[in-house]
Amino acid sequence: MRKIWTRMMKGAAAIAAFSMLVSALPQQAGAQELAKDLFGSHRLPAATKPQSIGFYSKGCFSGGVAIATDGPTWQAMRLSRNRRWGHPAMISLIEKFSRDAVQDGWPGLLLGDVSQPRGGPMLTGHASHQIGLDADIWFTPMPDRRLTPQERENMSAVSLIDPKTRRVIEKRWTPAHARLLKRAASYGEVERILVHPGIKKKLCDTVTGDRTWLRKIRPFWGHDYHFHIRIGCQPGSPDCKRQETVAAGEGCDKSLAWWFTEEPWRPNKNPDAPKARDVMTMASLPKACLAVLQAPDPVSLASVTYPGGGAATISKADPIAALAASGGLPAAASAFAPTPEIGVPVPFPRPVN
Ligand SMILES: [Zn+2]
Repeated sequence: MRKIWTRMMKGAAAIAAFSMLVSALPQQAGAQELAKDLFGSHRLPAATKPQSIGFYSKGCFSGGVAIATDGPTWQAMRLSRNRRWGHPAMISLIEKFSRDAVQDGWPGLLLGDVSQPRGGPMLTGHASHQIGLDADIWFTPMPDRRLTPQERENMSAVSLIDPKTRRVIEKRWTPAHARLLKRAASYGEVERILVHPGIKKKLCDTVTGDRTWLRKIRPFWGHDYHFHIRIGCQPGSPDCKRQETVAAGEGCDKSLAWWFTEEPWRPNKNPDAPKARDVMTMASLPKACLAVLQAPDPVSLASVTYPGGGAATISKADPIAALAASGGLPAAASAFAPTPEIGVPVPFPRPVN
């Protein structure tokens, strides 16, 4: 008995010494490393088949494509963030939406964040946008000129909401805003559109005729200078966790009235608590996300950039533009610059809607 006890004590001492050694080591790579650092460091997507894995706020995706920084009917903002990436269905939907919006009389889309190249938690901002199925669109219409990269970093969007009343600022709200949201809601893939409660209220109070689309317009914090489009899990993504179906009805009822009470706006009781993205390690994400991190890069940025304009195949390249587009910053890829032909098909077909 005594012998066993001594041996146990020796073992315990060894374990204690070992753990002291381990805790003295710097943070090791691997399961304990923060997922936002790992996903935030990839500049290109996982070159495997398109697949969303996990949930909008806890997951990743492979086979991502980027929307070009510029198209005939859109301009991407905040290029330095490199968040123009999404599931091909999301990216082609944005492109189609931008064309339809112009048909409706909107001057073109200013595009905010979609996802990082391989999704996952981000270094800053958003809890969601992790599986390539979320996109932010500005309420500010696209200007009639190309913004410079600097303007795209610094220009601020204009809020539609009076922070005191939490209602829409009448002189900023236009019927074109309502048409834009109606168009976004018209696509079968779109499950939810997040807007500030004041915007939902404005729609509830003013939309005439068909109101069924109001169901998809969901009140949420923020979203006073941009709206957020969320599409459903796409075919070929068995590990994509779908969101609960939105409640039936227009949502112009008690659930909306709650947003105009004090309760949703009370200050956070624990403002210093860390955000989920700041503590998420690879162990908290679906296992398949490790393979997404380790998957090879595509041959170039251009090969995975969706140029829009209905182009399904890409014509012969101007080699200088091709070089810039494949090796350069995302800003180098433009719908107006020829994209090199390298045998990787641009995502096609588009979703039917
Ligand atoms: Zn968003």
